Amino acid sequence: PIILAIESSCDDTGAAVMAGGKILANVVASQQVHELYGGVVPELASRAHQQHILPVVQAALQKAGVQKEDLDAIAFTQGPGLLGSLLVGGMFAKSFALALGKPLLAVNHMRAHILAHFIEEPRPEFPFLCLTVSGGHTQLVVVRSALHMEIVGQTQDDAAGEAFDKTAKLLGLPYPGGPRLDKLAQQGNPLRFPFPVNQMPGYDFSFSGVKTAVMYFLRQQTQQNPQFIEENLPDLCASIQHTILQTLMRQLRRAAADFNLTNIAIAGGVAANSGLRAELQRLAEDHDWRVFIPAFQYCTDNAGMIAMAAHFQYLAGDFASQLASPDPRLKLA
Ligand code: ATP
Ligand code: FE
Repeated sequence: PIILAIESSCDDTGAAVMAGGKILANVVASQQVHELYGGVVPELASRAHQQHILPVVQAALQKAGVQKEDLDAIAFTQGPGLLGSLLVGGMFAKSFALALGKPLLAVNHMRAHILAHFIEEPRPEFPFLCLTVSGGHTQLVVVRSALHMEIVGQTQDDAAGEAFDKTAKLLGLPYPGGPRLDKLAQQGNPLRFPFPVNQMPGYDFSFSGVKTAVMYFLRQQTQQNPQFIEENLPDLCASIQHTILQTLMRQLRRAAADFNLTNIAIAGGVAANSGLRAELQRLAEDHDWRVFIPAFQYCTDNAGMIAMAAHFQYLAGDFASQLASPDPRLKLA
């Protein structure tokens, strides 16, 4: 099938065209307005989606060389995400489908982050374990098939991406801090400042502890030396990143062992983190895992992954009606 997919769950407006499971075009318009406020402002996000959606869809169709009449279905992100943002993409997709007389596909954003692994080779084999680490979620998921997934662990408070962004903010880095912290960490010593690694039972995560520990540590140090952060920035970044990664890897290792899974994948925006990628490769050698890391463009929010999930739903006959409404808290399973 030829599918047009639209993604608008947070602050990126995306449109992709997929034919027979292959990406023909994947266009994203990012929003800069939020940088001023140090975080995504929902009202501004939905207004920017309204401005971007038509040009982004047109660009995707043109780049793919596909006429809208040739589409077999229109897919959109139903949730989870910001209600106002989801509404823009959802309403656009529904109107477009109605006008063209094409079927609709409603996609779960977190499933799509995982199914991004099927866009390009090498593809994981079912069942596999996926650690989804994004701006709003941290989940350990046993993926039995493209349609059957089970969350076995998740964060009890902040998401991993949030932990990166919030600690980066404490260091005075501009939003979004995650990628900037990653870059600085590459020149720092990860063992210089030991912060406590969370030891949750089961496979759940918690990141509020590291955030608080960093906040008190910086407050104490800057009282003695106001230049402390500037003088130690790479080491601080490396130490914080190390702590967050240790928390993630501890639960990933335990779940892989207990569920006896050796195909291990990571997904979501934090999967772009260079330390996480390196750590995963290292663990793969120790444990004889096959690890899967999506291409950078398919880690952060994009419509290509929505198209991939929609492709599987199309094959399964899982269509949505015009009554399908956005669900900011849509559950994975
Ligand atoms: P969700 O999918 O849960 O709704 P989201 O879509 O907003 O959240 P993503 O776009 O998947 O999240 O990821 C964005 C997050 O990834 C941000 O928190 C950002 O700081 C983080 N991130 C991106 N690149 C890196 C990196 N190299 N190192 C650490 N964090 C990163
Ligand atoms: Fe996302």
